[in-house]
Amino acid sequence: MKIDTLAVHAGNHPRRQLGAVSPPIYQTATFVAADTDELMAVNRGEKQGFIYSRLRNPTVMALEEKLARIEGAESAVAFSSGMAATAAGVGAFVKAGDEILSLADVYGGTHKYFTDVLPRQGVTVNWVQSNGVGEIEARITPATRVVFVETPSNPLLHIVDLSALAKITRARDIKLIVDGTLGSPFNQRPLELGADVVVHSASKYLNGHSDLIVGVVVAARAHTRAVRSLQFASGSILDPMGAWLMHRGLSTYALRMRAHNANGMAVARHLEQHPKVQRVYYPGLESHPQHDLARRQMRGFGGLLSFEVRGSGETARRVVDRCQLCGLGPSLGGIECLISQPVTTSHYSVPEATRHAQGIFDNLIRLSVGIEAAEDIIADLDQALEAA
Ligand SMILES: *Cc1c(COP(=O)(O)O)cnc(C)c1O
Repeated sequence: MKIDTLAVHAGNHPRRQLGAVSPPIYQTATFVAADTDELMAVNRGEKQGFIYSRLRNPTVMALEEKLARIEGAESAVAFSSGMAATAAGVGAFVKAGDEILSLADVYGGTHKYFTDVLPRQGVTVNWVQSNGVGEIEARITPATRVVFVETPSNPLLHIVDLSALAKITRARDIKLIVDGTLGSPFNQRPLELGADVVVHSASKYLNGHSDLIVGVVVAARAHTRAVRSLQFASGSILDPMGAWLMHRGLSTYALRMRAHNANGMAVARHLEQHPKVQRVYYPGLESHPQHDLARRQMRGFGGLLSFEVRGSGETARRVVDRCQLCGLGPSLGGIECLISQPVTTSHYSVPEATRHAQGIFDNLIRLSVGIEAAEDIIADLDQALEAA
């Protein structure tokens, strides 16, 4: 079935739920068994059943089934946040003494986790500055267990060639873990390109309504078993109500993604020819340095773009302050437009020299294009650019 259909129906089984078209919310901490034989059979995995909601909950399982099918994966594990998903998605495959290799160009929270937490558990994190496959390969050592990449990246939308990288990691028995939040499965399926594990902040496109913090790990069952076991031990589960809301948010996933893709492209094209705009970063534009690669591994390019205004950081600040429809704030992938200046938000604490080396200048603006009418978004940006 197509993703449009799966987003509506996968994980939902009305005939098993008294005919209800919407999955029930099993708001329960624990479950009772008929007798000790049944309890033991469930414990041993010989009988389908439920014991305790940190281990398994039917509403969360319904969501996990939908998420797995949307990604074309065998299995998915839902988490209380994208960061919890990243922590378990990586943590399940490393132990003290191992090394992981991560792109430096990853989400700020991931960078913090890899810098502050993994080393304390005896895991060495090596950073690669370039997202070129050759440069990544050159940094692999015999102790490397995981290669972690994010594609497209944020805010400059760099792309990693996943099929080429997967050939290298597979040959060395290294897990390739991809943060696929920005691509989202409607536009990009890293597992089909050879990745072993995909993590998402489902707080972004997957839920799409900017009203939940959720994460997910998707992979073959052989991999999610280790991830689930770590989650059971550490407790970073999603609650039944959150799972139900997420299930509902996902029902319109395909519709939303089409709107994000169309609006992202329309706004990027408009900004690219705008006299007050110096440069636009969007993988759907022919001017993006990796446009051909993006076209090969993505089906659409989403709603996140960045642009440099002609002028200073002050000019960019006036643009974001004067926007009316586009709210000034972090996050992305929601139905509403959100705008921010990385230097005052996501990259506020990054030293200037490092930021400049990454290509993030003060006049850069990040825009998450929502599903509003493209004309209205463009009119808002035009009046802000004009006034600034
Ligand atoms: C938001 C985000 C995360 C973290 O997800 P939370 O749901 O906020 O914990 C990780 N990776 C990327 C690319 C993100 O945008």
